[in-house]
This record gives sequence, structure tokens and C-alpha cells, in this order.
Amino acid sequence: MIDEITRPDLATAIEAGVERAYEEVQTLYRQLHQHPELPFQEHATAAHLGAALEALGYAVTRGVGGTGVVALLHNGEGPTVMLRSDMDALPIEEQTGLDFASRAIGENADGECVPVMHACGHDLHSSCLVGAAAVLAELRASWQGTLMLVCQPAEEVFGGARAMLDDGLYTRFARPDIVLGQHNMPALAGSVGHLSGQAMAAATTLGVTIHGAGGHGSMPAQTVDPVVIAAHVVTRLQTIVSREVPPDQTVVVTVGKLHAGTQGNIIPHSAELEINVRGFDNHLHERVLASIRRIVGAECEAGRSPRAPEFRVLSETIALNNDAEGTERVRRAHADHFGAARLFAMPRLNGSEDFPYFGNAEAGGFGGPDIPCVYWYIGATAEARWHATPGASVAEKMTHLEMPHSPYYAPGQEATLRTGMAALVTGALAYMVRV
Ligand code: ZN
Ligand code: ZN
Repeated sequence: MIDEITRPDLATAIEAGVERAYEEVQTLYRQLHQHPELPFQEHATAAHLGAALEALGYAVTRGVGGTGVVALLHNGEGPTVMLRSDMDALPIEEQTGLDFASRAIGENADGECVPVMHACGHDLHSSCLVGAAAVLAELRASWQGTLMLVCQPAEEVFGGARAMLDDGLYTRFARPDIVLGQHNMPALAGSVGHLSGQAMAAATTLGVTIHGAGGHGSMPAQTVDPVVIAAHVVTRLQTIVSREVPPDQTVVVTVGKLHAGTQGNIIPHSAELEINVRGFDNHLHERVLASIRRIVGAECEAGRSPRAPEFRVLSETIALNNDAEGTERVRRAHADHFGAARLFAMPRLNGSEDFPYFGNAEAGGFGGPDIPCVYWYIGATAEARWHATPGASVAEKMTHLEMPHSPYYAPGQEATLRTGMAALVTGALAYMVRV
């Protein structure tokens, strides 16, 4: 099937389709960029995307898992290929100086007014998805199967993927045979990066309440001091990575918040911790979370805490394991279309995504076997900037460039939009091209 995609006429047709779609995609990108919306509030974004996909002939359903959009194109017998984009923006004040920069204000979950910016390029992902939808609709004589386009809400808070799955994404619509997604990165615009296997980290943030019995600072014997318990907890948690995690595994345990008390002569009633855990192996990640609970519980008991500690999962996502066979298939399709010189080996970063829930039957809660996932990276740094950046490798240069979530991050180069569209088209055709 891959060989088929190298047919010059199909490659030419894809490029011609990208060319025809480009102007509208760029306009859509700038519109979305100027009007970013916070997680689960992507109403206008979803309306734009739904309308654009409907106009292309897709069967569109809105409001899946909140603001999610699902667009289907049935085109005969064949595999169901899911292409996923995300829609949400971040509470950041944009500093890019672009003429279509955001000045939007949104209301966050705590009811506070915050500036909002597409600082992670989800506007780019969704625009590229619409562009790819246009090209694939045009080229429908060249492929067969079912195309399932998914615009998910709330990636940044790791909520949107599961919300859509819980809302019956795979039962109401279709269960894909392969799930494909992409993310922009500070790499040369026009390039595409791949990474097989463990690609992004599982991440959990736990809130912990340690109970004490407060009182006067001069009479500690009549109190249970949660500050001392919390101090032991913080220290003891350091032994998880150093003593329980095999040395060849990457795990991070960070206590990013520790709060107790109001002033020096009062022993407080409780202490609050927030603990962030990251790692690339989902089973090991579960064991680390169990170790945290065990250590906190035991330290509370050791410190005479009157009540068991309370744990709250503030956010969580699982690790992304890029399917080896699928990554190779997509990488070859991209190499055939773009040329090997435009591909790069993506370095493993400690970032996280909720994309892997779409493939993980257990954590995604959709039953049956896992669905293979392939997630690649599209370069988003303008050529002149890239060549002026010190460093020999992509990994070295990245350390000198703004990353996603920076108020200066501006990934919407023309080459990035065009490549993002073509990468989705050729990725899908690697599974669907008519033989
Ligand atoms: Zn992000
Ligand atoms: Zn992102």
C-alpha cells in the first residue's frame, strides 16, 4: 500500500489539493488564533470547525464530550482511520506581536478573568485537520474506508479525550483501526519528526491533605503537628525514585506545593501538598502512585495523625506509546512524500498528552484490545531563525528556541501549515489508499 502512495500522480494530486486548500486554511488558522478559548469552552472554535467540515461533505456531530466535534466520511469498505486534532488554548497573555495576535480574555474554572492564547498551536492542528479533510474529500477516488476526524476539547487539562470516549466516541460513531495525531514543535518548518515507542510521559498531579490537630505553638504535646509530618513526607518521597525505581527507568516525583499554617506560634490543623509524577511506563507509573499513598499514609500514622490523609487526582494522563509498526508505516509514507531530508528523529521530551487515551483500551475505558496510535511532530520554526539557532541537532537547537506554552511561541509558518496538512493526508493514505 505504501508503494502506491509514491505514485507521482497521487503525490502531485495531494500537493495540488494542499495548494487549493491553503488560503482558506490560513484564514481559518488566523481566525482561530485571534479567538482562542479555554478548555471545555471551545464553542466558537467547534462551530467554525464543524461548519467547515460539513461544507466539505462530512457527516458532522457536535457536542461530543462537551464541545468535541466528530466528522465522518464513509468511502466504501476498508479501515477506519481516525485523525485527531485539539482545540483548546491556554491562560497566557500573548506577546508574539503578530498582527493577528490574541487579545482575548476568558474565564477560568475558578471564575477569574485571564488572558487567553493559542500558545500550544492547537489552532494550527485544527486548521491542518480541516485542510487535510478538504484534500482527502477531493481525492476520495484514491482511497477506501472510513475517515473519522476528531476535534477534541480540553487537551491542556487532560480531560477532552476521555470526555469524548465516555460520550460514546467509539460506540456512537466508529471504532478506529488506527489513531493518528500530530503536534507542532520548535524544529525546522516543513520538517516532520517521528519517534517510535515511549514518546510522551504519563503525568499525574495529586493533591494531598495531611490532618493534624492544631493548637498553640508553645504546647506541641497537646497537638499533632502536620508540618512535621509533611516535612517527613517530602523527604521520604525522594526515596521512591532513588530506591524503588529501576535505574534504567525515567521517573520524576516533584512536590511542587507545600502549604500549612498562618503564623509561627500556631500549629495548624492540616497541611496541603501537590505532587507531580511523570514517567514513560504506565505500569511503573501506577506503582509510583501506590508508593506515594503508602508513604504518606505511613508517615501520617508515624506522626499520630488523627485521620487518614486525603488524596485527590487533580489531573492525570497516561504515557504515549507510539506503535512501532504504525510509526514505521507513517514515517515511510512521509519520507516518500516529503523526501527523507525533511524528516527528523524526534527526541523524547518529558511532555504529556491525553492523546494516548484514544488507543489505550484499559485507561480509555472503551474495552477490547488496544488500538495502535501514531503521533508525529511537525516543525514550526521559520527557516532563517532555525539556521541562525546554535546547535547541531534538533534536540540542541530546541533548547535555544521558545517551546509551546511560551507567550512568544508562534508556530504558524506557511511551511508548517502546508506540511501539517500533507502529513495528515499521507498518514491517512498509508492505511487507506486504494490498491
Ligand atoms: Zn500544550
Ligand atoms: Zn499542545
